[in-house]
Amino acid sequence: MPLNCDVATLLHALQSDDPDAQMQVLDACFATLTDPTLWYWLIGFTVVSALVGALIGKYKQAVVRDTLLGLALGPIGWGISLLLPKAVRKPRCRTCGKPVDAGDRHCRHCGAAL
Ligand SMILES: [Zn+2]
Repeated sequence: MPLNCDVATLLHALQSDDPDAQMQVLDACFATLTDPTLWYWLIGFTVVSALVGALIGKYKQAVVRDTLLGLALGPIGWGISLLLPKAVRKPRCRTCGKPVDAGDRHCRHCGAAL
């Protein structure tokens, strides 16, 4: 019967003095960790997390920020994205291209009239 890599089996093997039993459990755990199915799920989940983050970001006008949040934190990142305020796109100076405040009469970077 193949061993499963669960906590009970692991604890049992670590408490026993039989090195063969310990090796068998380590092998079982190693097989679980290197199972490609696990990695397909993990990669698929990561891609979906990033895509949902990007969708939230499109609504919030912060696609890069929310894609990265989804990528790094998954559903937790989606929650953070939804809680963050909608990004406000600042107007830009026509002369130098740097962001300025909406009420400004002159660019604070180059002094050009807005
Ligand atoms: Zn300027």
